[in-house]
Amino acid sequence: TIETFTDEDVTLDDIYITIKTGSQFHLSRITYIMNTWFDLVKDQAYIFTDWSDKDLNLTANGHLVNTQCGAGKGYEQLGCKMGTEFDAFVDSGKKWWCRFDDDNYVIPARLLHLVRSYNSSSDVYIGRLTASFFHCIYHGKYYRYQFAHGGAGCCITRPLALKMRPWCGRTKLVKTQMETQMNDDCALGFIITALLKVDITLSDLLHSHYEDLSLLNPNTFTEQVALAWGRDNVVDLKHLKTPAKIFDIQQDPSRFYTLHCMVYPSADFCK
Ligand code: UDP
Ligand code: MN
Repeated sequence: TIETFTDEDVTLDDIYITIKTGSQFHLSRITYIMNTWFDLVKDQAYIFTDWSDKDLNLTANGHLVNTQCGAGKGYEQLGCKMGTEFDAFVDSGKKWWCRFDDDNYVIPARLLHLVRSYNSSSDVYIGRLTASFFHCIYHGKYYRYQFAHGGAGCCITRPLALKMRPWCGRTKLVKTQMETQMNDDCALGFIITALLKVDITLSDLLHSHYEDLSLLNPNTFTEQVALAWGRDNVVDLKHLKTPAKIFDIQQDPSRFYTLHCMVYPSADFCK
């Protein structure tokens, strides 16, 4: 028999949720998050960006963080942003850090359910792989590593994060990235799976727009932890068994409004 572990004590308040974005995406992406899932985690979620957008800060419950990392997608900007998310989690004192991109749709109850299945006082790194193994040379030494794809979201426990501090943080993550020539999400995985030798815990409930989202069975959407959208890649709502309010693609290009009404049929804009 399989023993299933549940950490009954963990609530949503034990999770520090971060969303990484940039000034160019406040309207085109963050809008869909603000109009859907953000409200459910407005006390637990923080948006990390590169601009003091006063209007967004108001709708984000004062949780907009201008990282001052600058706009752009170089290691210095994106690594600084993710490193700042990490530092803020360490300062928060919370049990879990769960981070997402600005093109993710998250179901908070499912996120809570996911992390409760693991022991928050041990070293846990939950995510989804893109490919199985990667290789690199770091400080003259060969390493094999795995990483959780940033675009699908990932979760890290506090004890693990504390062990990551020699290589992670606002300036240290950028340094690690420079030395390994890795993106921020790869560098997190490298630190955890290669330097700290902690295995990744795989979840197939996390999704990025790097997988073909149209292949996902829409009858499983409400069970997923994170979904995503990207240009020419959105969830497919055909073959839906339960009746749902389906917005047209012009109104709902991300599909987040339709998803939201599937998960919460009684939400205001779903009636
Ligand atoms: N991003 C950012 N600044 C940029 C480009 C990207 O903060 O100049 C963030 C973006 O908001 C998203 C993540 O980095 O949360 C990944 O970017 P994107 O989805 O555009 O690219 P992907 O890696 O998914 O192809
Ligand atoms: Mn993306």
